[in-house]
Amino acid sequence: MSDSFLVVGAGTMGWGIAFVAAKGGYDVEIVEPDAVARERARSTLEREAARTADAGLLERIRWSEAIRPAADVKVAIEAVPERFELKRELFIALEEALPPDALLATNTSSFSVGALADAVARPDRVVGLHFFNPPTRMPLLEIVRARQTSDDALDQAYDVAERLGKTAVLASDTPGFIVNRVARPYYLQALHALERDVATAEELDALARGAGFRMGPFELMDLIGLDVNLATSESIYARTEAQRLAPVGIQRRMVAQGLLGRKSGEGFYAYRDGKAERYEPQVPAPRTEMSAQERVAIVGFGAPADELAELLEQRYANVQRIENDELLDELSPDATIVVEISDGAADRGDVIAALDSLLGAETVFFADAYATDLQACGRRMRHPQRLVGYGVLASLDAQQVIEIVNAQSASDEALELAQELFGSLGKAVVLVEDVPGLFLGRTVGSIVNEAMVAVAEEVASADDIDTAMRLGASYPIGPIAWGREIGGRRVARILKRLSQAEGDAFAPHRSLWMLDLNEEQIAQEAAGHS
Ligand code: NAD
Repeated sequence: MSDSFLVVGAGTMGWGIAFVAAKGGYDVEIVEPDAVARERARSTLEREAARTADAGLLERIRWSEAIRPAADVKVAIEAVPERFELKRELFIALEEALPPDALLATNTSSFSVGALADAVARPDRVVGLHFFNPPTRMPLLEIVRARQTSDDALDQAYDVAERLGKTAVLASDTPGFIVNRVARPYYLQALHALERDVATAEELDALARGAGFRMGPFELMDLIGLDVNLATSESIYARTEAQRLAPVGIQRRMVAQGLLGRKSGEGFYAYRDGKAERYEPQVPAPRTEMSAQERVAIVGFGAPADELAELLEQRYANVQRIENDELLDELSPDATIVVEISDGAADRGDVIAALDSLLGAETVFFADAYATDLQACGRRMRHPQRLVGYGVLASLDAQQVIEIVNAQSASDEALELAQELFGSLGKAVVLVEDVPGLFLGRTVGSIVNEAMVAVAEEVASADDIDTAMRLGASYPIGPIAWGREIGGRRVARILKRLSQAEGDAFAPHRSLWMLDLNEEQIAQEAAGHS
C-alpha cells in the first residue's frame, strides 16, 4: 500500500499543495465539493503538470467530492476557506475517516492550531503546515507546533516538508506564526510614513526596492489586495493586542472606498490593463574621474565611516578623515563638504554644532538623520540652510537609493550637492520629510525589532526567522542578520526617537542590544541562562 496524501479544498492553495505532494511521490486525493472549483483546479493542475518532466504525476492524483474512509492516508491537510467552524467540522470528519496515525494538518493563516486540535480525540496528531502562495513556487513551509502536537507528529511534518522539497521552519502556535507577523511592520510603518507625507507611495516603494526588497510595500499591498492585507493585520492585532501592530487609518479608509489594489483597478497605484507606472529614480553610473572641486571631510568612526572614506577617496582628490572627536580642530577650514558618519547609536548634534562654529558659511554638512535630531541640531547652527540629513541603514553597498532630508531650510544648492555626492557613488537620492527614522530606518528598524520580539516570545529561533523571511517574503537578508549589520544600538536609537515622537508602542525591545554581541558572547549569554 503506498503512502497517500489527502488535500481538502482545491482553491488558491489546495491545488498547489496537491501538485507538490504528487511531485514528491505521494498518491494524492483532492476533496473539492464545488464542481466549478474542481474543474478550475483540474485544468490549472494539468497546465502545471505539462511543464514538468514527470509523466506520471497526474496519474497519482484522484478527485472526490467528499471525505470518505481511507485506510492508506498518511497525511491530510485542509485548505478550505478561513472559517473556524468549517475547519473544526472537517477535522472531526477527517479523524473519523482516516487511520489513527494519520497526520492531521491545517493550512490556516490566522487561527490557533491548538484550538482546532481541541476538536479531535487525538490532538497530538494535529499540526499546522502553513504553505505560501503559490505553493508550487514558494520554497518555505512553516510547521506550526500546537501545545498538543506530539514529537512523532512533528517528525512526520518535517518528513513531509522534505519529501515536498520545502525548507521547513518551526513556529509556535502564535498569531501570524513567523512570516505574517514579522512582515507586519513592513506594511504598517510604510502606511504610517505615508500618512505623515514622508514621501509619495511611489517614492517610498523605490526606496524599499533600493534597499533590496523585491517589491515596495505599497505595490505589494496592491498585489495582495488591501482588504486581504488589512484582514491579516486586523487578525494579528486582535489576537496580540500589541499597539505597534494596530492597523493604520489610511488603509481602512481605502478599503471602505473599494480601493483594493490591482483587483479593483486602483489602490496606491492606478492600473491600466493590470499595469501601473512605478517610479524608478535615476541611478547614475558611479563617477570614474576625480573631482578636485570639493574638499570633503569625513568625521566619525566605525565601519560605515571606513567604507565611505574608501569610496570617496576614489572620487574626490581632497578627502580628509577625522576619526576622533577630540581632534575636530584639525579639520581643514576650507572643507566644502563635511559628512558626519559614526556608529549611529547616539545623537551627534554636538559634533556638528562644534564644526559649524569652526568652519566657513559655505561648508555643507551631511548628518546621519537616523541618529541625530536634525531640527535641534539646525537650531544650534549658524547656517542651518547648509544642513542636509541622509539615511544609510548599514552599508552603502547594500543600498542603491538613499533617502535625504531637508531638516529645516536646506538650500537648493546644499540638496544638489547631496545628490552629487551620492551620485558620484552611483546612488540615487529621494528627498523625504524629516520624521524619526525617515522611511527605511523606521520600517526596517521595526522589522528587526519585531523579529527580536518574536525570538524573545519563543515564536521561533533566530535562524528560522531569518530563513522564513528570506524564503517566505523574499527579504534580501534575514531581519536578525540585518539587525546585526545595522547594529542593535543603532536600531534602538532609531526606535527610541520614533517612540518619543509617535508613542511608546514603537519603543525598542529590550533585547536589541544582543544584536551587537559576537558569537562567543552569545554562547556565554546562553550558558548563563541555562
Ligand atoms: P480558496 O477560497 O481559494 O479555496 C478554498 C476551497 O475550499 C474552495 O475551492 C472551496 O470550494 C473549497 N471548500 C469549501 N468548503 C469545503 C469543504 N467542506 N470541503 C472541501 N472543500 C471545501 O481559499 P485559499 O486562499 O486556498 O485558502 C485556503 C486556506 O489556506 C485558508 O485557511 C487560508 O487562510 C490559507 N492560506 C491562504 C493563502 C493565500 O495566499 N491564499 C496563503 C497561506 C494560507
